[in-house]
Amino acid sequence: MKWLPLDPNKDWTSCSECGYSIGFHIGLKREGDRFVVLLHCPHCGARFATGWEFRAPEAKPEEPGS
Ligand SMILES: [Zn+2]
Repeated sequence: MKWLPLDPNKDWTSCSECGYSIGFHIGLKREGDRFVVLLHCPHCGARFATGWEFRAPEAKPEEPGS
């Protein structure tokens, strides 16, 4: 599913695809050493790219049995 743009000149309080206005879910997609923040509409499933990103914590080796 493609990521839709958000208009930086408008509020990000409702989904531009379906009009849902109760709020978004947040998704974090890892890209290398960064996480990018996506907003997901819980009503129609549209995904929006926020342009926000932050440095990912250091990956830890998996423990045996986990
Ligand atoms: Zn929606």
